[in-house]
Amino acid sequence: MGAPRTAARGGPRSRGEHFAVLDPATGEAFAEAPDQRPEELDAVVARAHEAWRGWRTDAAARTGALRAAADAVQRAGDDLAPLLTREQGKPLAESYAEVARVAARLRYFAELVPEPRPISDGRPVRSEVRWRSLGPVAGIVPWNFPLQLASAKFAPALAAGNTVVLKPSPYTPLATRALGSVLAGALPRDVLTVVTGREPLGARLAAHPGITHVTFTGSVATGRAVARGAAASLARVTLELGGNDAAILLDDVEVERVADRLFWAAFRNCGQVCMAVKRVYAPARLYSQVVEALAHRARNTVVGAGLDPDTRMGPVNNATQLDRVERYTTTALNAGARAAAGGQRLARAGHFFAPTILADVPPDSPVVTEEQFGPVLPVLPYTSLDEAVAAANGTDYGLGGSVWGTDLDRAEAVADRLECGTAWVNHHGELSLAQPFAGTKESGVGVPGGPWGLYGNLRPFVIHRPTEATG
Ligand code: NAD
Repeated sequence: MGAPRTAARGGPRSRGEHFAVLDPATGEAFAEAPDQRPEELDAVVARAHEAWRGWRTDAAARTGALRAAADAVQRAGDDLAPLLTREQGKPLAESYAEVARVAARLRYFAELVPEPRPISDGRPVRSEVRWRSLGPVAGIVPWNFPLQLASAKFAPALAAGNTVVLKPSPYTPLATRALGSVLAGALPRDVLTVVTGREPLGARLAAHPGITHVTFTGSVATGRAVARGAAASLARVTLELGGNDAAILLDDVEVERVADRLFWAAFRNCGQVCMAVKRVYAPARLYSQVVEALAHRARNTVVGAGLDPDTRMGPVNNATQLDRVERYTTTALNAGARAAAGGQRLARAGHFFAPTILADVPPDSPVVTEEQFGPVLPVLPYTSLDEAVAAANGTDYGLGGSVWGTDLDRAEAVADRLECGTAWVNHHGELSLAQPFAGTKESGVGVPGGPWGLYGNLRPFVIHRPTEATG
């Protein structure tokens, strides 16, 4: 892709067949992306279906192409990372890390080949499970990690022999389009196509009769809409949805030792991480110390444009999200919470909100019970561990959770009680490419990640024949 089209200043309005893309660090439009009409999808999906005929047949060729794609992405870091920062807001170093993660994921899935599996149940027959690809897969992605989450869709789907139609968020279409061009140099034609546009493009893609699997990351409400849309064609759905992860600090925790890690587990990517720490539960005895340790870090975090090398935390991605973060914060403050740090927007252009630590928050405040998805962290005291575990589990979400303490066995035993997909001890948010990433409750449906992600893009096919003796 060449340089993004330059846009007029102003809000995200559509001009003909393009829509404006804003830089969250200024709040102003800086480029445009094609606003593809839902009808255009029919041709894209038809071509993806044609391309599938060849792509599905040769696993060795796929491995080679995916390795080449990984190399191409790695080489394209200087093109992709600054564009990602410009439209998303995150610090440039984090954009480079995101690009590196895409390359690593392609490399990981390039080497994964589905294993046939014999069925041995004592009957005098030979039967074996083999694996078949599905067809065109739709990947629908949010704005917080546009490239990384896109690769979580396309890498396993392509490795399985499917073709992919990928739709980024209209807030962050540019780096994904650029990534699509990079991948096009390594993959056969029409094996992966990026489509951009505003709604109802996503709804049309999710409900498209030519799509066999819709793999979606985003909010719970949109996830439900996607599942309803896919129901029309009975396409498979994989949904990676929201989270409201709790971190429980135990009474033997060394606060200063863990405070940096805990803080960045909440504030990385400006808190816009599905599995960020979104609530902290601290023993009453350590409460003030924990609040102050986190507030100290919040006050000293350099907030600015992601392209500025001094920046540690960028802007909130978009004005709607900024309003939402402000609403959660103000509601909590009006209900008696105290801002130990931050508490308001920054008085400057762009979508900036001060890193905020909220103390004395009523436990039923929406900033505790819902997903704030921004740079705001409520810290709550507890008196008994059972109470803390019950509070951590007392949510409709179940993505991740963490327990922090010095006695690792004890911390692990508490972590084992968390109702979520991944629980960490003295960490939060680290994921292996080889692990399943499956939220429980309203945090997700299906099992992306690792071999589970590959098999989630395949269907079993059973060959059944007599043995030589019985045939
Ligand atoms: P969103 O649900 O608003 O949008 C996600 C994507 O869906 C976008 O591409 C959007 O254009 C598209 N979309 C909107 N309406 C649609 C419809 N009716 N049918 C099909 N597609 C539609 O989410 P967002 O605001 O972009 O992202 C934030 C949310 O994503 C948060 O809730 C966050 O927790 C979640 N998230 C989850 C994970 C995870 O892995 N569990 C990771 C990152 C973000």
